[in-house]
Amino acid sequence: MVKKVSEYTYDELLERAYSKLPTKARSQEAFQIPKAEIIIVGGKTVIRNFRWIADYLNRDPKILQRYFAKELAVPAYMDESQQLVLQGRFGAHVINKLIEIFVKKYVLCPTCGSRFTELKRSGKVFILKCLACGAETSLQAF
Ligand SMILES: [Zn+2]
Repeated sequence: MVKKVSEYTYDELLERAYSKLPTKARSQEAFQIPKAEIIIVGGKTVIRNFRWIADYLNRDPKILQRYFAKELAVPAYMDESQQLVLQGRFGAHVINKLIEIFVKKYVLCPTCGSRFTELKRSGKVFILKCLACGAETSLQAF
């Protein structure tokens, strides 16, 4: 679906403008919790911008996929367009709330609040390593 410029919200226009900037300039911009673009197809919920969300958060899409499957207790898979397909119908508010929780728990550094972190599995835990302040936090893995 292609939108006319007049149909974009202010935030979307900003996002479009920023996406054309080099990465270095973009990284200075304020971080926003990404919002899912959702469509319901039959009895399934499709997160259309799933890959973008994973990339924006700098998280392995497989981890994000498992997170949704675990939290919603339904099967989830990535289709050939790297959209996430969830069994069952879920509203945007449910999906966006889960993204918000994921960001607060598995992306933002609990010590300094930076979004520039890495999440790595180490046995039964995830290690959230902050690239800004160096803090390492262990979290229960899934
Ligand atoms: Zn930090």
